[in-house]
Amino acid sequence: MALIVQKFGGTSVGTPERVRSVAKRIARTYEEGHQLVVVVSAMGHTTDELIELAHKVSDNPPHREMDMLLTAGERISMALLCMALADQRVPAISLTGSQSGIITDQSHRRARIRRILGDRVRTALSQKNVVIVAGFQGVSETKEVTTLGRGGSDTTAVALAAALSAKVCEIFTDVDGVYSADPRIVPQAKFLKTIPHDLMVEMATRGAGVLHPRSVELAKQFKVALRVRNSLNENEGTEVINRMKDASMEEYQVTGATADDSKILLRVTLTRPTVLGALLERAALSHLSILSPIFVDGEVRFFSDRDGEVDWRKNLEKLSLEGFVSKYELWPEIIPLSVIGDRFSQDGLALQKIVEVLAQVDIQVTFGTSSPLAMTVGIQKSRAAEGVRALHSAFMENNHAS
Ligand code: ADP
Ligand code: ASP
Ligand code: MG
Repeated sequence: MALIVQKFGGTSVGTPERVRSVAKRIARTYEEGHQLVVVVSAMGHTTDELIELAHKVSDNPPHREMDMLLTAGERISMALLCMALADQRVPAISLTGSQSGIITDQSHRRARIRRILGDRVRTALSQKNVVIVAGFQGVSETKEVTTLGRGGSDTTAVALAAALSAKVCEIFTDVDGVYSADPRIVPQAKFLKTIPHDLMVEMATRGAGVLHPRSVELAKQFKVALRVRNSLNENEGTEVINRMKDASMEEYQVTGATADDSKILLRVTLTRPTVLGALLERAALSHLSILSPIFVDGEVRFFSDRDGEVDWRKNLEKLSLEGFVSKYELWPEIIPLSVIGDRFSQDGLALQKIVEVLAQVDIQVTFGTSSPLAMTVGIQKSRAAEGVRALHSAFMENNHAS
């Protein structure tokens, strides 16, 4: 008998039929004698629809109230799944993030988990229940309901698996696992049986939406065995693993290609270079991401979250009034396009290849950065799918190390 944490994403619980079929799957695992904690996301596009609804009643909905609204999505799924389990004669109880003791900081919409109490989860497990936990949500020390950022149910699942010392955390979704690119954009994408944590973090932070990046970081830090599987079949899926030695000597290796249209480009001119810290501190306080920053002659360019646009404007306005920032621009039409892999920094050849490949399909690159594990360029959002296909074809479908 093992304690297993399973997470079912939005499509996996997207319709009443899917909820019933997830319940049957859970019933089989329960009957094998395992203890089960199941994390669920909101059904289908519920979260998007709730956000749209909020913007129909307000131009600038307060973050606290957005969290109150959005957490309702996961609450619907958890209750429905419990009802379907009752039909399967599986004893089950649903708990919100708050009832599960998922304690976060106070950053509404982008909260970070501080610790998990989990006493009610443990008690319910010891009474032979399957415990269904609403993903993506928690509660602050001041008892305010919070959400963890888009896609955050994966992070709920891994954090619970860590807190409960589960044997494995299985993320069930609508594809067979992790591929070298989004299989909906690149049909030739390669299925990855395994992927090391650090490369998965790079893929996820650069747009591979199949896993929330913070879930992978937590899995690595707390040694949680993590798998991505398809809720519609019995395939083994992708295992996220510790890094192993690879066969190649010094050639660069390519794992995947991504584009991320949930990001935008920002260009900020500082009044003097020494005030960079003030900008970074403001971003960190609001948990706004800073991806691929470059800092040249007092100007810093980076990508950040599209749904943080209003927060960025507020922060940058304030920094301007405080005399730190002399000019700023937000470019919602420019997004990051990346190649992820190993040993990119040994020379500029891989970056040169990206620029050449994109030029061949007439995609303009606004700027580029390179680190050992990832190369990222800024391109027009409307060209994202073409860009990923071109890079995947050049780096992964041919002899890539040429
Ligand atoms: P869920 O609702 O289950 O959390 P998501 O939509 O968040 O599902 O994640 C699954 C989706 O991630 C897939 O349908 C796929 O289109 C997309 N995806 C993007 N990049 C990748 C990748 N490299 N490998 C697998 N899936 C990917
Ligand atoms: N329902 C939330 C979202 O759509 C969380 C998740 O699905 O993981 O972002
Ligand atoms: Mg997801």
